[in-house]
Amino acid sequence: MLEARGIAKAFGAHEVLSGVSLDVERGELVSIIGPSGCGKSTFLRCLNLLEQPDRGMIRIEGVEIDRDGPQKRWTRADEAQAHRLRAHVGMVFQSFNLFPHRTVLENVIMAPLAVKNVPRAQATEVARDLLDKVGLKGTADRYPLTLSGGQQQRAAIARALAMKPAVMLYDEPTSALDPEVAEEVLAVMRQLDHDGMTQIVVTHDMRFARAASDRVLFLDHGRVVEEGDPDVMFAHPSDERTRRFLRSVL
Ligand code: ADP
Ligand code: MG
Repeated sequence: MLEARGIAKAFGAHEVLSGVSLDVERGELVSIIGPSGCGKSTFLRCLNLLEQPDRGMIRIEGVEIDRDGPQKRWTRADEAQAHRLRAHVGMVFQSFNLFPHRTVLENVIMAPLAVKNVPRAQATEVARDLLDKVGLKGTADRYPLTLSGGQQQRAAIARALAMKPAVMLYDEPTSALDPEVAEEVLAVMRQLDHDGMTQIVVTHDMRFARAASDRVLFLDHGRVVEEGDPDVMFAHPSDERTRRFLRSVL
């Protein structure tokens, strides 16, 4: 349901991604690991076109953006296509990014109201179900900063889910959290996996990457060095760089 081919991205003279490809089947949970600065966040941001890739192709749910061929300008038509593509993608950041002056419920219904013109009553009903689902029953009328970090992150997940995305992208969703609180967030992601959601997770949490993923991608210097079954990769990394990285973090 998601295909990325040869994604390249430079900032000035610094090539951060040098042709990263990824195929994700519906319902898969794919973890992306790799050293700090290797391009993980940039890749996720390219996938939903928060960054414009210089080269490569991205297709999500049949909506395609192709940057290959003669170097093309980013046109208004590309931006419209990017907008269509983003409608299928939910994104969760390390820093939660909730609106602090809106209640949890308002945070969750905001985009469905504004972007999809869902009637308020219907959006509210869906939001309450989602808040239940992520274990936040009873927090609808609270303000984000009165919640724990783990609760805020789960609210951010509910907010992303409210747009009914086909795929969820997470950029280090638990890095700002204490381990026991992180676990509540990971449990939600496992539950979503169980329910069939397609998810791509950039994570430092190697235990989660190994136990919960269908597949792991190891990125280094803007390239996929190794990709495969988590148990195989963690037990028997085939590339020396993967071996070194895993040794440094495990
Ligand atoms: P990771 O998430 O793996 O830690 P990033 O994708 O955030 O890595 O960053 C990869 C490299 O790209 C880093 O060297 C970073 O400094 C650089 N970079 C990221 N975003 C920008 C930007 N907007 N402008 C310039 N350089 C950037
Ligand atoms: Mg990052």
